[in-house]
Amino acid sequence: MHDTHSIMFITKRPDIEMVSGEGSWLTDHEGKQYLDFVQGWAVNCLGHSNPGIISALETQARKVINPSPAFYNQPMIELADLLTKHSCFDKVFFANSGAEANEGAIKLARKWGKIHKDHAFEIITFDHSFHGRTIATMSASGKPGWDTMYAPQIPGFPKADLNDLDSVERLINPKTVAIMLEPVQGEGGVIPATPEFMQALRALTKKHGILLIVDEVQAGCGRTGKLFAHQLSHIEPDIMTLGKGIGGGVPLAALLCTDAVACFEPGDQGGTYNGNPLMCAVGVSVIQQLTAPGFLDEVIAKGAYLKSRLLETSAEFGLDGERGEGLLRALKLGRDIANELVEEARIMAPIGLIINAPRPNLLRFMPALTVSRSEIDQMLVMLKQLLRHSPK
Ligand SMILES: *Cc1c(COP(=O)(O)O)cnc(C)c1O
Repeated sequence: MHDTHSIMFITKRPDIEMVSGEGSWLTDHEGKQYLDFVQGWAVNCLGHSNPGIISALETQARKVINPSPAFYNQPMIELADLLTKHSCFDKVFFANSGAEANEGAIKLARKWGKIHKDHAFEIITFDHSFHGRTIATMSASGKPGWDTMYAPQIPGFPKADLNDLDSVERLINPKTVAIMLEPVQGEGGVIPATPEFMQALRALTKKHGILLIVDEVQAGCGRTGKLFAHQLSHIEPDIMTLGKGIGGGVPLAALLCTDAVACFEPGDQGGTYNGNPLMCAVGVSVIQQLTAPGFLDEVIAKGAYLKSRLLETSAEFGLDGERGEGLLRALKLGRDIANELVEEARIMAPIGLIINAPRPNLLRFMPALTVSRSEIDQMLVMLKQLLRHSPK
C-alpha cells in the first residue's frame, strides 16, 4: 500500500488499492478478491474489463482521441443515432458526468421557459432526490443538509414529495417551467416512482404546458430491465439525462430532448470534451450490448431472481423486505446496521463483498447487468453469514 498523503481528503477510504477487475470481481494490491455488487455506483453496467469496451477504446484511441468538439466525429454521430432510435427523443448533447448533463437539462428548460413561458424558470424537484454535486444540481437535489452546505443555493427548485401528486400540484405557478425527477430515486434509498405517479406527472405537465425531465443517470441504461426507466411507465418525457451506465465505467453522460424542446442556440451550451470520440465509442459499444436480443430480458429475470432471494433473506432474518426495479434493489434491514455490514462485508476473508448503504437501515445492490445467478447466490451466502453475526 502506497503513501496516500497527497490525495485530498474528501472521504474515508480503506487501506487498499484496487488493481484489476473482471466481470463481477475486483482484485486488490494483496491479491484479495471482492465480489462487486456496487460496480462503481451502478456505473459498470457490463462489469469490469468488458471486452467490447476495451476493444472500442483501443480501436478509437488508434484513430483519433480528440479532434475537438468543433468538429463532428463518427462515434458521436453513431451514439446519438442509437440513443434516438431506441427512445422517444430526437436530439442528444454529450457531457462528461451526470451532474453536467443535469446542468444542461436545467439550462435547456430555463431557455425554453424564457422563449415559450414568459421567462418561467422554476423546476419542481423532489425531497430526497439526487441530481449531482455542482451548485445548481445540489440546489435541485433534495438531500438533507445540502440546502445549507454551500449556501446560498441557486433559487428556483421548490421540493415536492415523491408519489404525492397534490404536493406537486400545490407548487405549480406561472413561474414553473418543468418537473424533474428520478424514475427510481437512487441515492435517496432506491425508491421507485410508481407508474401511476409518472403517468399523472405527464398528464399534469401537459395540462400546464410545462416540461417533464427525467434524470436517468442511475436508473437508465438497462438498470431497471428497460433500456430507459421511464419506459416502465409507458410515458414520453420531454428531456432525459443519462450518465453512469452509458459509459460503462468511463466518463460519459448525455442530455436528450425532443425536437420541440431543442432550443439551444450557438453559445448557449458547450464543453471541452462534449462528444469526444474516445468516450462515445465506448457508449456505442455499451448501447449495442444492452440492446442485443435477449439482454434486457435477462436483466428482468435476474432482477426478479435477486428480488426473490432478498425477500427470502428478509423472511429468514426478520427484516423489513426489499424494494427496487430490475438490478437496482435495496434490502430494508429494519435497524441501523447497514454501515457496519458494508464494512464487515468488505473485510470478510478470504473473499470480500462490496455492497453499499444509501441509508443507515438500507443495503443497496447494483451489480453488473451481466451478473450471473451463481454470483447472486454467492453474494447471498456471504450476506447471510454477516446477518447471522450482526447485532440484533
Ligand atoms: C450519480 C447521479 C448523478 C450525478 O452523476 P455524476 O456523474 O456523479 O455527476 C445525478 N443524478 C443521479 C440520479 C445520480 O444517481
